[in-house]
This record gives sequence, C-alpha cells and structure tokens, in this order.
Amino acid sequence: MTERVQEETLALEVERALYDVFDPEIPALSIMDLGMVRRVTSADGHALVQLMPTFIGCPALSIIRRNVIDRVLAVEGVTAADVEFVYDEPWTTERMTETAKVRLREFGIAPPACGLLQMNALTALCPYCGSSRTRLDSLFGPTACRSVFYCEDCHQPFEAMKPV
Ligand SMILES: [Zn+2]
Repeated sequence: MTERVQEETLALEVERALYDVFDPEIPALSIMDLGMVRRVTSADGHALVQLMPTFIGCPALSIIRRNVIDRVLAVEGVTAADVEFVYDEPWTTERMTETAKVRLREFGIAPPACGLLQMNALTALCPYCGSSRTRLDSLFGPTACRSVFYCEDCHQPFEAMKPV
C-alpha cells in the first residue's frame, strides 16, 4: 500500500469509529447520524476531525469534542487526534440522516421541522400521535437545544429540537 492509500484508509476507520460517538443530549443519535462530521483527514497517524456544530454555543460541544478525541485515539494506527469546529458552512437539519429522524421520533423528540415556513411558525408534529395540532409551550426546554411542545390531541408534552 502506498502511504496515501494508508492515510485514506485510516481516515475511513476514524469515520467509522465516529458512529460510536453520541450526542450527549440525545443519546440515541451519533454525531454521524446528525451530520455533524464534515471531514476527517489523517497525516502520519494524526487524525483531524472537522465538526459542524449543530447549535452554536450548545454546552454539549465540549463534551462532544472530548468524546470524539477519546474514541478516535482508540482507533488502531491513530497516534494523535484533534477536533476542529468549522463555521464557514452552517449545519442545517437537512444534514441529518433519515435514520436520525426516525430515532429522534422513537426517543420522543420531534425532528426539527424543515422548511422556512414551518421554521417561522415553530411547529412540530407530535411524536406520539402524529398530530400537527401542537403548540409551543416553552422555547427553552431542559437544554438550550430543545423546546417543549404540547399536543392538543393526545395531551402530551414533548420535546422538539430547535430548528436552525
Ligand atoms: Zn399527540
């Protein structure tokens, strides 16, 4: 194998390992599912992971950084690991995989509403009964990243990720 191929293989191994790093606020989702990982590169065993923060200023970012570094260092062949948060291209909810949206619903959190119109109206479908007759209860849920909604049909409160 040429050196270049080896580095690319290592980057792929690192990418695979990132499926084991979960969002500390939503443990059902890995940062890969969330579409946070923009690029993984490696040079001489030094892996660099570029992440797109899903919510700017979210306190979970420092935890994610530490978890990524711990996990990447455990990959065979990696001798050093770094995380860089990139802001030049914004993360959007479109980057989430379909699996991520399904898992969010299973977790009792409504996937963020996509599309400008819905975003402005701040609506979310009820994850329990699928009703759209929901209202925003509080913009600030248990964490800065989530909002609390209330379903008018099944009368259950639920959390939704704040769309960005
Ligand atoms: Zn409902």
